[in-house]
This record gives sequence, C-alpha cells and structure tokens, in this order.
Amino acid sequence: MTKFSELNLNPKVLKAVEEAGYESPTPIQEGAIPPALEGRDVLGIAQTGTGKTAGFVLPMITLLARGRARARMPRSLVLCPTRELAAQVAENFDTYTKHLKLTKALLIGGVSFKEQDKLIDKGVDVLIATPGRLLDHFERGKLLLTGVQIMVVDEADRMLDMGFIPDIERIFSLTPFTRQTLFFSATMAPEIERITNTFLSAPARIEVARQATASETIEQVVVMFKGSRRDREASEKRKLLRTLIDNEGEKCTNAIIFCNRKTDVDIVAKSLKKNGYDAAPIHGDLDQSQRTRTLDGFREGSLRFLVASDVAARGLDVPAVSHVFNFDVPGHPEDYVHRIGRTGRAGREGKAMMICNPRDEKNLAAIETLVQKPIPRLDNPLASDTPAPQADAAEVAEEQPSKPRRTRSRRKPDDAPQAVQEAPAKAEAQPVTAPAPEVQAAPEAKPAPEEQRAPEPREETKPRSRGGRGGRGRDNSDNGNKVVGMGDHMPSFIALSFEDRSAS
Ligand code: AMP
Repeated sequence: MTKFSELNLNPKVLKAVEEAGYESPTPIQEGAIPPALEGRDVLGIAQTGTGKTAGFVLPMITLLARGRARARMPRSLVLCPTRELAAQVAENFDTYTKHLKLTKALLIGGVSFKEQDKLIDKGVDVLIATPGRLLDHFERGKLLLTGVQIMVVDEADRMLDMGFIPDIERIFSLTPFTRQTLFFSATMAPEIERITNTFLSAPARIEVARQATASETIEQVVVMFKGSRRDREASEKRKLLRTLIDNEGEKCTNAIIFCNRKTDVDIVAKSLKKNGYDAAPIHGDLDQSQRTRTLDGFREGSLRFLVASDVAARGLDVPAVSHVFNFDVPGHPEDYVHRIGRTGRAGREGKAMMICNPRDEKNLAAIETLVQKPIPRLDNPLASDTPAPQADAAEVAEEQPSKPRRTRSRRKPDDAPQAVQEAPAKAEAQPVTAPAPEVQAAPEAKPAPEEQRAPEPREETKPRSRGGRGGRGRDNSDNGNKVVGMGDHMPSFIALSFEDRSAS
C-alpha cells in the first residue's frame, strides 16, 4: 500500500495530513495525486466519502506553495455545486494548509460580496466558489480569471443536474487555455463526457467504485407503507417515521431524514419537533446563517435529527451518523446511494431505513438495480393498528391548512391499511456486502431513465435557464416567486425575510 510520504507532497502538507490522523491515502488519492503533481489533467470518477476532496486539495496546495498570490488574479479555482460543499472544501483547505501561507476566498451566496472583494483585491491563492456567485463577481469587474493555473470542478454530475453546465463552460473559457484541470464527477453522463472531452487535455482517468458497493457496514431496510385513507396518508407516514425512530431506541444516536421536497422537509421537521423530537430542517430556501447554525448543531451533537433535502445534504461530511431515514424513495437511484452514504462512514456501522409507498415501487426497483441487491423488507410496525390510526388533527391542519379536498370516492368503505399485504415477504435485514473501492474497477452507473424519475420537480432538478446568465444580479431578479432552491440561487427576499416566512 502506498504511503502519503511516497506521494511527493510538500512536507508541510504531509505534516498537516498526519495531524489530520490519516494513515494512508484512499484509492482516489493514490490515483489522483501523482498525475496532478506532475501537472497533468485529472478526471476523477468518485463520490463524496471517498476522500476525493483531499485528492485534489493536497496536490493543488503543494503546487501553489511554490508561487505567490497576485492582486485580483486568483491562482486557482475550485467550483462546487452548492454552498455547503464549497464551505466544506474551504474547511479542508484550512486543515491541509495550516503550515503553509496560502490564502483563500469563498464566493458563495449568503456571504457578503464586500468582504470577499477585499480578499480578492489583496490577492488569493485559491478561490472556492459556486458557479453563479463566481460569475456575479466576474461580471462586477472585480475578478480576473486569467491567472488561474489550476481549476477544479467538483461534483460535475450535480452541476449538470442543477443546470450549471453552461456556467461551467463559460468559466472554462475565461481561464487560460494552459491551465491544469482536475475534474471530479460521481458518474459520467454523456453531457459530462462531452465537457471533459472539450476542456480536459489527455487526463489521467481514475475511477473508484461507487459508494453503493462500498457500504458494507450499512444495514438497509425498506418499509412498505400505504395510508389508510388518502387524506391521512401524510400524517400516518410521519407517525410511521416516529415509530421507526422509536423502535431503533438508543441505537439511533442521530439521524438524517431525507425528503424529496422542500415543503416536506419543513413539515416533517415541524411535526417531529411538535412530537418532542429534537429536529431541524435544512434546505436551499433557508437562509445561510440558519443553515450553518443547524449544520453546526448537528455536527456538534446538540441537534439529533437533521431533516434534509438532497441538495442541502450533498457532500456534507458528518462523521458519525447512526441512521439515515428516507422519508421518501428518491426519484434518482443515485441519490439513494448519496443519502445512505451519510451513515456507515469510515468503517462505522450504520442503518438506512426507507419508507416506500406503492407509487414509488418503480423507483425502489431502480435503486435495487443500481445497488445490485434486493433491499430487505421490514414489516410496517403500524400495520396492526387497525382500525386506521386517527390522524393527529393538528398535524393534518398543519399540512393542509386551507382547501378541503374533495376525494373522488372510488374507495371501499373498509379501506384499511394494506401495508402488510403489499410488502413482499419479510427478509432478515442483511448488510449489503460488496467489494471495496478499487481504482479503475467500477462499472459505470447508469442514470435512471427519465420516466423513472420523480414526477414533481425537486429541489436540484429545476434547471437554470440555458440562455446564459442574463447579466448582473440575476440570482435576485429572474426567479420571481419561483424559488430555485439551489443554495446559490436564492432570491434576496427569501434571505431577508426568512424569520417572517418561517412564522407562517
Ligand atoms: P470526501 O470524500 O472528500 O468528502 O472525504 C470524506 C471523509 O474522509 C472526510 O471526513 C475526510 O476527512 C476523510 N478522509 C479523507 N482522506 C482520508 C484518508 N486518507 N484517510 C482517512 N480519512 C480520510
């Protein structure tokens, strides 16, 4: 096995790595660091959790340690799809450069332009940014990208999902042709392939196995669920979630609960709180300080349940999460892999429980195809609650405050819960076993066919307009009432009036 000391990293970087407690490089680091240090382009096909961040930060800072920053012309650029991921890269940068004198600026929504402008004016070695914010700074004339020697694109597949590819192409074209590019993506969709063919030059390609195949320590189960009545389904589902949490007892020290939609993130968090669970929501419509507070609380252990959307949780590194609950079956099977990868990290045990109702069975099948295993079914613990559990009146009111719903009554009078009949035979929950990550070993994951995707637009799948950026301040101007929930693109009125909004 290669040691960090054999990778030709700057001795001060090596010292910081040792102090971080890393014993040996992960496969993506072992594969990416040597060609990156040689100045080659790198195409890393790896997901979060594989150590990919250090895979690009360590060689980058080793190379940058040799030169000096120049006013308004950053020497390197890291592009991330979300604010949280950018902030996390910045944290990694701080950890690994603690014995070097390198500077950075973080250009993300929710952080003041003024302060970052000051840093850029002075000159920074590394600029870590989301694409929209970077272009906003550029268009304000505050930034020159002609000094960029190294450019990193992190989570390119997420950029694609979020409609950032035109921005990425534009940013590529603003940087020198001679730059070195380190490009990371969990999957290689045709559009990503096209970008890499266009902008990378003879890259070293390093591929590590999908996280799904590495999560040997994650026990996965799925609970089939059908509401007793349509108007009770949502509150019964939340009750089921509470029951699943309760049944895990003390084993569930903390958990991330994923919902497909931002509105559900809010409702589930509120409902858990009302029922005495220590929970808080995180999604792209919440203001940055709130998101940071919530995340810090969760990391420190003062918050037990984080209710999250996929975008907000993307790339989050929360080392010790005992459980992941999928309140909904994700529409993209890859998201399932990302979600459950929040638990069972670094060899720890973890449990991932998912609630699936009949209309999500197609998505469940797509997930099982991707992870190449059937996910064991767990009996619905509420299935014996007959007659149907009365929905908590307050909960129903909380969810549908206004319109009384007219239901087309094809329903039989004895429309009792059917979860038991619907669930396939119970299988003992088994940890999924599969090979550990290997360089150049993974079959490429196929994206879900379009028709298998969630019918409603989800937070990260609403595309940005393709017609270019449309000038300055577009983040604040062109969305109207439509909240595009990608951290970086939040209309300013949301950020300003969050307290008021949350009171409603
Ligand atoms: P990433 O995939 O970059 O999000 O990294 C996932 C986690 O792995 C982070 O908590 C890193 O601090 C940690 N990590 C990165 N490299 C190593 C390593 N060589 N040994 C142990 N942990 C690591």
